[in-house]
Amino acid sequence: MELRTKILAGYGLVLILVVIVCVWAVANLYQLGRASAAILRENYQSILAAENMINAIERQDSGLLLLMQGFQTEGLAQFRENEVGFLQWLSRAKDNITVEGEAELLQTIETEYLAYLMVAAELSQPTPNQTSPPSSYYYETVLPKFKQIREACTQLHTMNQQAMLSASKDAQDVSARAIWSMTILGVSVAGLGLVFSLFLSNILVRPLKEMTRATGRIAEGDYDVTIAATSKDEVGRLAQEIMTMSGKLKSYHELNVNRLLAEKRRSEAIIRSITDGLVVVDADFKIVAINPMAASILNTGLNQAEGKHFFDVIQNHELYEYMKTVAQTGQSPKLDEVESTLAIEYGEQTHHYRFAITPVKTQGDQMLGVVLLLQDVTKFKELNRLKSEFVMTASHELRTPLTSIAMSIGLLMENASVNLSENERELLQAAQEDVERLRALVNNLLDLSRIEAGRLELDLKPVSVLFLVEKAVSTLLAQIEEKNIELSQTIPADLPNVNADPNKVTWVITNLLANALRYTNRCGHIRVSAELVSEFVYVAVSDDGIGIPLEFQKKIFEKFVQVESGKSSGGSGLGLAICREIIKAHGGTIWVNSTPGQGSTFTFTLPLAHA
Ligand code: ADP
Repeated sequence: MELRTKILAGYGLVLILVVIVCVWAVANLYQLGRASAAILRENYQSILAAENMINAIERQDSGLLLLMQGFQTEGLAQFRENEVGFLQWLSRAKDNITVEGEAELLQTIETEYLAYLMVAAELSQPTPNQTSPPSSYYYETVLPKFKQIREACTQLHTMNQQAMLSASKDAQDVSARAIWSMTILGVSVAGLGLVFSLFLSNILVRPLKEMTRATGRIAEGDYDVTIAATSKDEVGRLAQEIMTMSGKLKSYHELNVNRLLAEKRRSEAIIRSITDGLVVVDADFKIVAINPMAASILNTGLNQAEGKHFFDVIQNHELYEYMKTVAQTGQSPKLDEVESTLAIEYGEQTHHYRFAITPVKTQGDQMLGVVLLLQDVTKFKELNRLKSEFVMTASHELRTPLTSIAMSIGLLMENASVNLSENERELLQAAQEDVERLRALVNNLLDLSRIEAGRLELDLKPVSVLFLVEKAVSTLLAQIEEKNIELSQTIPADLPNVNADPNKVTWVITNLLANALRYTNRCGHIRVSAELVSEFVYVAVSDDGIGIPLEFQKKIFEKFVQVESGKSSGGSGLGLAICREIIKAHGGTIWVNSTPGQGSTFTFTLPLAHA
């Protein structure tokens, strides 16, 4: 049965019950009405007739008395007038016989009345042979008849009055019965209606409740739901659809789970096969994946590490801070070679690992975690160390012979040049310049290898930046003048002292100024400035020379990097690398801003000297 039909049937039944109650009420009211009407119709008319007949006969009697007292005309008129009235009411009473014995009584009244009229006629028409006087005739013959008729009329009145009372009682009985029956029927119908409504609502709501429970379970991921609704209506069909849907969801879910499992296995296989150490942490820094290499680097077991907090496995504050920064900013940190190297001790041995930290984000840029990649660079470190040592030894060994060669060439230039031809002198001049360049290169190499070997010793002391700049400028005055360069200085007189090794920082400024001179055309401008920014003094050397292409601006601080310009600059490409190491050793940084064709500004920072 369709749901609509069920609801209509429910309403229909209630409607039928209401109709039954209404019909019953109407029937009762009709009966009550009939009982009241019967009282009026049947008895009231007879009572009225009886009263009027009594009234008429009494008036007739008083007419006779008038007549006897000598008022012939008035007495007779009154008598006749009421005779008509009496007969009319008598005839009405005869038309409305309702009570048992009423017909006989009326017959008696009629007979008696006719007899009365007869005897009364004697009085109204006195005959000559009348012996007795009219008054005695009246009292002996007429008056008893009159009393008899009045008594009979009174009897008729009483008879009908009693019948009326009995009819009224009947009407009351009908009314009481109507009240009782209506109450019983109303209560029964209401009870029936209530029971049926409960039954109907239960039938309609029970499957809905089951469906709500089932959908709740589906939402929680339990797809094995059954709904025990067997009806064929819309609700039954809906239940069927829900079960079909849960079945489909189940297979889709299983498919997804299988796909996810396959994906997970593949990722695990990839992670395992990576030869570098790999650690993946979630947003709370709990290790969610770690490969065997990482486990062996961190001296832990795969199962032991998974689920643990990152810091419990790798107790390295610096690395943890980097990871936290990446998790907060969502960007990998820009670290140099030294900063991104982690040293881990294994007993007597130290291993070095280059690390890379990468954020893991969703498509909507939500942070899921961080990946740490550890690459073993111990061998490269060792190789680098050997290389530096070799360069240091080689340059050290080369310095002495180069000095003596330079001295010899110098002596030759001074003493024997007069005996040489122009050509020979030029050759000697070229040899002197080459030797000088070689000496500078060897010196730079030695400095750099010392720095790299960690042998850079700083003699830190409070020193004025103005003093350092002037010292550097003084060594280059000849070249500045020779190139007709305009050099300006903007150094505030009240600039606080910096904490620096004067010789090394002078070397840096000299190197920067020498570069500026080298890469600036004649009549160019060079400016040295210094300013205080927070806890540091910023020193900048600017020129309006050829500038540095963007792609070289980061690289020029690395060893042997020179901007390819086609012609030799005469430098070794080591100057800026040494500058960076020296500034870093002071706790500062160095960088360049440059626009090709317009000039460059090299800036470095030095910490303030605290009292
Ligand atoms: P070099 O001894 O070759 O000057 P540096 O390390 O001092 O070595 O400089 C590296 C390279 O940076 C230079 O070869 C040059 O191409 C570029 N460079 C450095 N300073 C400047 C400058 N002021 N203007 C333009 N290019 C510069």
